[in-house]
Amino acid sequence: MDERSNDSQGLLCVHAHPDDECIATGGVLAKAAAEGRRTRVVTCTGGELGEIVGEGMDPDEGRPRLAELRAEELAAALALLAAGEPHFLGYRDSGMIGTDGNADPASFWRADIDEAVGRLVAEIRTFRPDVLVTYDAFGNYGHPDHVQAHRVALLAAEACAVGALYPEAGAAWKVRKLYLATIPRGFVLEVNRMLAARGLPSPFPDADRPEDLTMGTPDEDVTTAVDVHAYLPVKMAALKAHRSQVGDDSFFFNLPDGGMGGRAFGTEWFVRQRSAVAAPVSEEDLFAGL
Ligand SMILES: [Zn+2]
Repeated sequence: MDERSNDSQGLLCVHAHPDDECIATGGVLAKAAAEGRRTRVVTCTGGELGEIVGEGMDPDEGRPRLAELRAEELAAALALLAAGEPHFLGYRDSGMIGTDGNADPASFWRADIDEAVGRLVAEIRTFRPDVLVTYDAFGNYGHPDHVQAHRVALLAAEACAVGALYPEAGAAWKVRKLYLATIPRGFVLEVNRMLAARGLPSPFPDADRPEDLTMGTPDEDVTTAVDVHAYLPVKMAALKAHRSQVGDDSFFFNLPDGGMGGRAFGTEWFVRQRSAVAAPVSEEDLFAGL
């Protein structure tokens, strides 16, 4: 591959719905941009089935134009993160598992995988990122669109480097580091215990051990922890830009001690799925070794 200078290095994050980019990767996006790197987000669905919880918003009135509203919110969030314009893959939100949206032929869950991979390959070959990020195999918490984003992104991250595949999608491009955004199970348990100790509802009331959890990654498999405390204000402001999705009572803004003293959202964790360059086993930067 060609030598690439730091200021041309790029980070592409593949997400399922508008707002996911802030929660899982808002810090690394803001950090990469502040360090002079190119950043972009591809959002697989319009988020048409998201709950409308924004203050002063009427769910019945907002529902018919929710995709339009969420595209505006995404544009505002990306502007705060200095991550350019929205790029949609063009699928419909599938809704939570077991709901009617799962059967919609236009939903991401029902997408023809080959076609979806081709669409993402075109996005990758256009932006030419060095680092690509998507979710862990459970889509962080099991939402079908997140699981599908993982599948499509992993296939596209390989196919984009092979010019004979999807030749109509542009010239071959090699992604050098591929990451899965995740949460260490040890930290999920820590949050769980903290909430229980304060008498607050915890998402996994019966979980005591890492193996009791359906979500998260065993701590020993998490390769990369990026400290994004310095970017917390911009990350939380970008999340708030998704006005229809985050009410004043949102979990994200109401953890005790201001999000556990910044710990809840001040670190972003990843599993390095592969790297074409030598990088430390335990990293603190997605661009380590590039
Ligand atoms: Zn989502």
